[in-house]
Amino acid sequence: MTAPHDTVPTPTPPPGPCPDAARTGATPDRSPLPTWLAARLKRDRDGLVAAVVQQHDTREVLMVGWMDDEALRRTLSQGRVTFWSRSRKEYWRKGDTSGHHQYVKAVSIDCDGDALLIEVDQVGAACHTGARTCFLAGGDLGAVQGSRPGT
Ligand SMILES: [Zn+2]
Repeated sequence: MTAPHDTVPTPTPPPGPCPDAARTGATPDRSPLPTWLAARLKRDRDGLVAAVVQQHDTREVLMVGWMDDEALRRTLSQGRVTFWSRSRKEYWRKGDTSGHHQYVKAVSIDCDGDALLIEVDQVGAACHTGARTCFLAGGDLGAVQGSRPGT
């Protein structure tokens, strides 16, 4: 099915890749993602969404990273996880330097669109410290435990 407005020529985008343009100020109108998905994402003011990364079989929570629309597009289409690095201001495909690849098994979006769950097969350590997970590396904060009444 082709709507009439689809036949109207659209302006040619500027030549060459411009990852920063894709990253900053992404809106549903200028996103590399399908329209419905771009519309569901609730980005922070930097254009980013939190991505919780989980080992698909053991359910270990491995790490949290940040994605913009382009990082999510790559993650959905390439079988490997790509993040946006806030500190380095560049795309970062997990494992390219460390060898600790994350192979995508499933990607879900949460109810209000401000977080993603990336289920992966993690090779080696997820954390740059060498720990299996970033939360093992960070450590237990010693929270007071609660219990439901009657137990
Ligand atoms: Zn870490």
